[in-house]
Amino acid sequence: MVSFSRVAVYARISRDVTGEGLGVERQLEDCRRIANERGWVVAEEYVDNDISAFGGKHRPAYQRMLEDITAGIRDAVIVYNADRLTRRPIELEQFTQVCEAAKVTQLVAVTGDINFGNDDGMFMARVLAAVAAKESGRKSERLKRKAIENAEAGKPNGGRRPFGYEKDQLAVREAEATIIREVAARYLAGESLASLTLWLQDQQVATVTGAKWSTSAIRQVLTNPRIAGLRAHNGTIVGAAQWPGIISPAEHQQLIAMFARKTATGRRVPRRYLLSGLLRCGKCGGKLFSSVRVDTRRYVCMSGPDHGGCGSMTIVAGPVEEWVTQAVLYRLNSTAMVDVLAGRAATDDRYAVLSAELQGDQAQLVELSELWAAKGISTAEWKAARETIEARIDRVDRQLAHLTGDDTLTGLIGTGNELETRWGTLNLSRQAAIIGAVLDYATVNSATRRGREFDPTRIVPQWRV
Ligand SMILES: [Zn+2]
Repeated sequence: MVSFSRVAVYARISRDVTGEGLGVERQLEDCRRIANERGWVVAEEYVDNDISAFGGKHRPAYQRMLEDITAGIRDAVIVYNADRLTRRPIELEQFTQVCEAAKVTQLVAVTGDINFGNDDGMFMARVLAAVAAKESGRKSERLKRKAIENAEAGKPNGGRRPFGYEKDQLAVREAEATIIREVAARYLAGESLASLTLWLQDQQVATVTGAKWSTSAIRQVLTNPRIAGLRAHNGTIVGAAQWPGIISPAEHQQLIAMFARKTATGRRVPRRYLLSGLLRCGKCGGKLFSSVRVDTRRYVCMSGPDHGGCGSMTIVAGPVEEWVTQAVLYRLNSTAMVDVLAGRAATDDRYAVLSAELQGDQAQLVELSELWAAKGISTAEWKAARETIEARIDRVDRQLAHLTGDDTLTGLIGTGNELETRWGTLNLSRQAAIIGAVLDYATVNSATRRGREFDPTRIVPQWRV
């Protein structure tokens, strides 16, 4: 057995493991035991706390481990099980790429070995990640049902403290309630949102996050049925709330009608831009906003009460959208990842591969017995070979049961097409979702060359994966 002296142990707690009772200490103990058994030396334990991998949130210890693997100072990785490592297949893909590049072939899970050194191990890891992702999905189904129950009972929906209410989301915070009443009355009297925004900023009134007020933040507060003592769920009022209103339901109706009128007459952005929210100003770090000027779509840094940028950065939309799209597609040239990102698990593909594997193994068993009968191999050789194959059949059987036992997963068809050819057929929000899954944001710097030609060196992407 190869002895490794620079082994990484990775552990993660997330809110959803309570059922399994797997505290981080328990994970670490099991991982250390595995290292001991193999005579491996743990160089570092990487621990992320209380963050669900499915949310794709930043995991500092995980990132650090990837950097250390990349730097070539780790030679094996031990985790409790595959879904501690990652629940997003795209992350797993990245992880295996990092391992392959660094020639790290030993990934050991306490609940069973995954060896990245061969295709089978890679395939198993992918299946495990897909199954884990599916389980996370199921958990969110449960949460959804719970949310509907809460809504129907008029209970608060959790999350951040709403402006006008205390942390329990039930008691009114009088100082803020007074502000809501004044802003509502002035808006109904015809004052503009921009003017009310400036007034709030002048009064040094902050939002619940301590941010400056914007027109959209005021709109959110004023159009929220909550301030009229009404409980809404997914945009529909489901009944009276358990907390008192700050304004009356009648005033709420007037506000909604007023916003509808203004929206109908006001000018609206014609459509969502592909890179909305994904570009940042290289001068002030502010978000770039979409804007049409003389028939040309642009992303611009905006000053003023809503935006607070420096107002001196602008880039033509078309070429930067094209460039970012190409860069994203380049990063995503794996069909498995494409399917995952496009929201369709390629279960049929997995099913086909697993079935083929099973048939292959069974045929091999028959061949072996014939070979033994013909005295081509010894009884001991036959037994050893049979055990290996039977263990594999067992494992694949379990995977198949997992896949076929799930209605949602089976029946989905993986096309195997390249994303490039499909890209044009995806709608804007799907494209934007895919880009957002890969790109954290891109900074747009000032033009250094004269002329109209697109200069890709102005764009500095921050990749998520
Ligand atoms: Zn700026």
